[in-house]
Amino acid sequence: MDLVKSVVYPAEVVALFKFKLGQCDSVTAKSQQADAETDLGTCYVFLDKTSRSFAAVIRKLDPKLRDAVCLFYLVLRALDTVEDDMTIDKDEKIVLLQNFYKYLQQHQWKYEKSQEKDKQVLEQFPVISSEFRKLSTEYQAVISDICQKMGNGMVKYLDRSPDSLDEWDEYCHYVAGLVGLGLSQLFSISGLESAKVGEDSTTSNSMGLFLQKTNIIRDYLEDVQDERHFWPQQVWGKYSSEMLALSEPSRLPDALSCLNELVTNALHHIPDVISYMARLQDQTVFNFCAIPQVMAIATLERCYNNPHVFSGVVKIRKGEAVRLMMEATNMKKLYAIFVYFLHQIKLRIPSEDPCQARTHAIIDKCLSLCQTDNTFSVTSYASTMYASATLLAATVCYNYGTALVDILV
Ligand code: MG
Repeated sequence: MDLVKSVVYPAEVVALFKFKLGQCDSVTAKSQQADAETDLGTCYVFLDKTSRSFAAVIRKLDPKLRDAVCLFYLVLRALDTVEDDMTIDKDEKIVLLQNFYKYLQQHQWKYEKSQEKDKQVLEQFPVISSEFRKLSTEYQAVISDICQKMGNGMVKYLDRSPDSLDEWDEYCHYVAGLVGLGLSQLFSISGLESAKVGEDSTTSNSMGLFLQKTNIIRDYLEDVQDERHFWPQQVWGKYSSEMLALSEPSRLPDALSCLNELVTNALHHIPDVISYMARLQDQTVFNFCAIPQVMAIATLERCYNNPHVFSGVVKIRKGEAVRLMMEATNMKKLYAIFVYFLHQIKLRIPSEDPCQARTHAIIDKCLSLCQTDNTFSVTSYASTMYASATLLAATVCYNYGTALVDILV
């Protein structure tokens, strides 16, 4: 199915094919797995089960960092599972969130009443915490500190949504910016990156905010259907008296204006993202950081002025994701990807959009920061003849590739 969606995009067919054959091993790997019999091996099994996109890139990190980042991810996944579980009584949840960092030092602590899909990380928390306590004390201090700050931040927004844009930034800081801060400190402690990477909290916070805001913008419909929302009232209140009303077809012009204003807000994090990425020195850290950022700019471009945000799920194609993942390996290529998607948004800015001047201004500013001779494009060959021939050839090769992989492993 992924192949069919990408069939008119030849570069994506190639990317999918390489991915299937394992030729993008420089950015993802399954080979670096700890022995599944050990507690650490069990943690990597949890990682595979709970992370949608990070498991492969975490595995490919330098060995000096890999376990610390894996355990950081699992600890935060456990914390987030508590936050998301609507079956936990509010008072109990507050105690759990505020004290979660202390559980890292309690050998027996676990939580067995969760109903969430990732409840395994809470039920078997002693496996995670015992591996956490084997990390260097410097790594432990960072993870514990971020866990404490995030737990307190989650309590603040437990039963309310961000109202002002300042609160939007604050909420995103708690749930994503802090992850950027913590990871950056781990990078510096490992010695793979300079001290500056861990010290500059402004740019590492922006790395998280850019991703989080993109997800919040994309997930409008899913969130309102779950009777929650994370779009800031300061923006949607200008266009509607109720968040849910934005999904009514008759309100589409206002809904798109609201959407475009939020995308424009998110684009303002790109200059910091560029500064942060340009500072990185280690290839595995670069890939790890770049992949989610290029997925985010591609997703934002897809969401901009797109009515489908209010009626379904807006996603980038699997082939597109794989291609971006394989491309985003150095600064020049990263600039080229940003330039491509920023230009695509710029071409689609409606002349009557209330914040079109701001959108043009931030895009022009970002483009001026992207110095590259490289180009990136999503070329579509939509000719029926070409598509039919490619589909036939690709299906044969793809299935052959799958069979080959099955034989080899
Ligand atoms: Mg959550």
